[in-house]
Amino acid sequence: MDSALKVNQGVPQPPEINPRAREIIKKKPGKSLAVPVYLEGIRKGDVSLLAQSITLIESTLEEDRKKARELVSACLPLSGNSVRIGITGVPGVGKSTFIEAFGTHITSTGHKLAVLAIDPSSERTKGSILGDKTRMETLANNPRAFIRPSPSGGTLGGVARKTRETIFLCEAAGFDTIFIETVGVGQSETAVHSMTDFFLLLMLAGAGDGLQGIKRGIMEMSDLLVINKADGDNIEKALQARALYQGALQLFPPPLSGWKPLALTASSIEGKGMKTILEAVEQYMRLVKENGYFKSRRAEQAVYWMRESIDDHLLSRFYDNPEIKGKLSELERKVREGKTDSFSAASELLKHL
Ligand code: GDP
Repeated sequence: MDSALKVNQGVPQPPEINPRAREIIKKKPGKSLAVPVYLEGIRKGDVSLLAQSITLIESTLEEDRKKARELVSACLPLSGNSVRIGITGVPGVGKSTFIEAFGTHITSTGHKLAVLAIDPSSERTKGSILGDKTRMETLANNPRAFIRPSPSGGTLGGVARKTRETIFLCEAAGFDTIFIETVGVGQSETAVHSMTDFFLLLMLAGAGDGLQGIKRGIMEMSDLLVINKADGDNIEKALQARALYQGALQLFPPPLSGWKPLALTASSIEGKGMKTILEAVEQYMRLVKENGYFKSRRAEQAVYWMRESIDDHLLSRFYDNPEIKGKLSELERKVREGKTDSFSAASELLKHL
């Protein structure tokens, strides 16, 4: 994670979160409404109630969580009818610019788009790589688009689970295309991959894989590589990179989907290449719906998330337990000072489960 961030030092990062997102989050009610009120709002495609429902999913209050569970269950039968696209790439590759361009193209073809994010930095630093800048202003003002920044805090698993539940709510509200954005530096890709149908990796020409901080595994799970910034003097280099990556993709074992991963070029700033990219996604969706992979993968994902929910629930039950909270730091100190060993300390704490 550090290496990718280091490489990108000096990439200009605009300062502020998009104003509309902040406005929507601000609408968080003091006390939450009744579940049927949220459900009705979602069914009608009311984005303000949708936003408030997502706040419920993100809440740590037990009362809100209970409502959120009810609401997600009620939305499940209304959800699923969408294309879920994971989008990743290191900071500076042009994710927000690309999402603006690609999202604008998608909405112009009549689709409704929800843009969600999983920000891995929120776990450790409580800060954010993805959220704290003016992002996607055009989309933020597009009535066919809904943008929601990453849930913050908690474990990556917890953040990812909330995002997955948010997908269901957005789908129930009529959004038929969902983007899940993350930053291309590690673990969070696996989480995004486990909740999407299609995985798109943004890259740049002229930098080796190592330099771009992209792990081989991330490239291997991608259905589409997009070499961004194919404009001006960079066009030739982008085309060369595309050929190089197309060759590299062929060396990976063929994916279970039956799809042959592609490399394409784009200029997000000029809005070029978007039509071809959408066609690739549509082609992929046709293929996997026909060969049954779409259905089996979504079923596998549902099982995976059941297990994740159990893990998440058990972890928070453990760490939120006041007795454990009280003893944890003391035992950590003892382990550090060699006064007790890790295993005894762990079993001492686990007794409280
Ligand atoms: P992110 O950190 O991955 O979200 O990247 P941004 O979308 O914030 O873009 C980082 C920088 O690259 C910004 O200065 C953008 O203007 C620039 N950029 C993004 N896409 C393109 C592109 O297609 N062509 C060129 N020339 N610059 C781009």
